[in-house]
This record gives sequence, structure tokens and C-alpha cells, in this order.
Amino acid sequence: MLAPMAETIFGKILRGEIPADIVHEDDQCIAFRDVNPQAPVHVLVIPRKEIVNIADATPEDAALLGHMLNVCTKVAEAEGIKDSGFRIVLNNGEDGGQTVDHLHFHVLGGRAMTWPPG
Ligand code: AMP
Repeated sequence: MLAPMAETIFGKILRGEIPADIVHEDDQCIAFRDVNPQAPVHVLVIPRKEIVNIADATPEDAALLGHMLNVCTKVAEAEGIKDSGFRIVLNNGEDGGQTVDHLHFHVLGGRAMTWPPG
């Protein structure tokens, strides 16, 4: 049997144990504003299912991941940055810069992004 996923701050947000500025909710995922925004719009989209990161996702998660990407676009539209452009970021593991062990897409926009990322 797999060990249960370690408790994360996002699990607490999902269970309503700590507050978040939620901008989207459905049966598969929620989206809320990042507490430390890196752009005028910075929203995190997370699955209700406990998946540590993209490296831990399985082929069975494909539909969920696709749905989450569609939600990223919906969030961008609702935030008024769909047409100006936006960036979706997914950090994986230590070198990827992941600090919370619950899969999440960052939706960033409202300013011009630079490349390459740091
Ligand atoms: P990452 O570094 O890709 O794992 O991203 C984690 C993100 O979660 C960071 O951008 C943090 O600012 C954000 N974060 C951490 N705690 C909270 C919280 N309680 N509410 C909203 N965002 C958070």
C-alpha cells in the first residue's frame, strides 16, 4: 500500500481549514490567488486529488490534467489577461523550484514575462 501523501498547506485549503482567495471551484480542481504574487495576476490551479507533482501523475490523470489546463485559460479570461497573454508554470521537484508537494499550475499575467525563466 502506498504511504499517504504528506500534509500540505494546499490540502488544508482544499478542506477549508485555512482561508484562500478562491477564484474558481469545480468537482475536480480549485483555483486561488497566490499569497506571494509574482505578477499582477498570479493564480494557482490545484487538483482535489492528492498528486504530489507532474512526475507523480499517471496516465489515469490525463483527463484531470487537461481539465486543469482548460481551467487555467478560464481563469486568465476571468482575470482579463486571456488576450494580452499569460504564462502557465508547473514547477517539479527541488531543482524545478517546487515548494509545495501538491501539484499546481501557476497562472501568471498582467505584465510581460521574460525568457529564460530564472
Ligand atoms: P511552487 O514553488 O511552485 O511549489 O509554488 C508554491 C506557491 O504557493 C508559491 O508561489 C507560494 O507563494 C504559494 N503559497 C504558499 N502558501 C500559500 C497559501 N497559503 N495561499 C496561497 N498561496 C500560497
